[in-house]
Amino acid sequence: MKYDYDLFVIGGGSGGVRAGRLAAEGGARVALAEEYRMGGTCVIRGCVPKKLMVFASGHSGALREAREYGWQIGEGRFDWQRFRRRLDAELDRLEGVYRANLGRAGVEIFDQRAVVAGPHEVVLADGRRFSAEYILVATGGTPFVPEVPGRELAWTSNDVFLMDALPRRVLVVGGGYIACEFACILHGLGVETAQYYRGAQVLRGFDDEARGHLAELLRDQGIDLHVGTDVERLERRDGGIRVKATDGREATFDAVIYATGRKPNTAGLGLEAAGVKLGRWGQVEVDAYSRSSVPSIYAVGDVTDRITLTPVAIREGAAFVETVFRGNPTKPEHDLVPSAVFTQPEYASVGMTEEEARDERPVEIYSAAFRPMQGAFVGRPGRVLFKLIVCAETRKVLGCHIIAPGAAEMIQMVAVAIRMGATKEDFDRTVAVHPTMAEEIVLMKTPVRRA
Ligand code: NDP
Repeated sequence: MKYDYDLFVIGGGSGGVRAGRLAAEGGARVALAEEYRMGGTCVIRGCVPKKLMVFASGHSGALREAREYGWQIGEGRFDWQRFRRRLDAELDRLEGVYRANLGRAGVEIFDQRAVVAGPHEVVLADGRRFSAEYILVATGGTPFVPEVPGRELAWTSNDVFLMDALPRRVLVVGGGYIACEFACILHGLGVETAQYYRGAQVLRGFDDEARGHLAELLRDQGIDLHVGTDVERLERRDGGIRVKATDGREATFDAVIYATGRKPNTAGLGLEAAGVKLGRWGQVEVDAYSRSSVPSIYAVGDVTDRITLTPVAIREGAAFVETVFRGNPTKPEHDLVPSAVFTQPEYASVGMTEEEARDERPVEIYSAAFRPMQGAFVGRPGRVLFKLIVCAETRKVLGCHIIAPGAAEMIQMVAVAIRMGATKEDFDRTVAVHPTMAEEIVLMKTPVRRA
């Protein structure tokens, strides 16, 4: 045989594992190398532990509300150690599932780092060399912390899952998915939480109205959010980390968490020497089939810096196998990808923002913000937001934005309708489920504005 393997996958995260498993199930001889833990960012230090922390932190509000609803409950106290033990056990279990699934499919696993040594060659950390007809780079991303004096004092999201005890006062730096999610999680767990974001409003790239609405909710629940504010320097002082901000503000925290983006994980991977073109951020440049500038080397997932979401990486991995091993060239879909920011409440969206849509064509905007029944009953002030962006000519719904408890669950369903090309009139014809928050999505009759 010409090569040791048909496919060598580097990286055991969502994209790499799916591709390796599918290729092996189809009869290919597959190896996969992972230097850390099987499951990658999503399972080990991303989506899964984050969501479990979201659940944990949501109980503080639920307990407060339960009292208002008539339950007699004393002051609760969160036990991080107890949660952490359970979390660790769950991650171990999931890692085992991933490993077992790969093994069942016949994938050979190497628990060590692998680097590319040529278009058809990889080298393991222990020095072994293997040839493969195809190499799939699925090494994901890694947190990026900017060059700020004292940056060695900063944590990233990776460190949060591993902390021994909850800090008392925390600063989260950044205004993206991770920053907003962790600010809510830590606040919900009882940590005094501040958030500094350099731009004018958090969640750049999302719908402006929704961004403003969410920022208000973050502040209302007690997160000390400052926009237009960046960190100038960090120092260990006063028994904590003294932070000087660009607006002159100085404050001391027990931990400072940087959530200032993630960079593709390609450093030292041997890609450029093998002829693989990398982009400005180190991402592997790929075509619509995930093929790099070297025909035998493909890349999927965060390392390509397209849409850095687990379900997208999984689809890219599956499309790669269809294309390369099943003779069925398949481009992964990158449009109409729904996503959710797991703040409290969640912000979920699919399709265009109002700003994107109105730049392209005349639109009608339907939007409703109101206090949902569950909270209004006990005098909780937070309002939910439901918003549809509709093309004035075709009547198609171009985008949907929801800020509400359970918004992520709702958007999954809306995404199907939008993908099918649903018009506003299709939404209107759909009977409401009463009494729910979600019924608002089919009850908004008059546009709040046209643009
Ligand atoms: P994001 O790109 O979402 O946000 C990065 C934030 O850091 C932005 O607010 C950005 O500001 C700010 N920033 C960047 N560079 C600097 C700098 N030098 N100094 C100060 N601030 C800076 O990245 P995240 O790390 O939050 O998440 C990475 C990706 O992971 C997300 O884009 C998403 O695709 C995925 N993810 C998805 C989740 C989900 O589906 N729920 C959850 C978590 C992550 P600015 O806007 O001004 O550039």
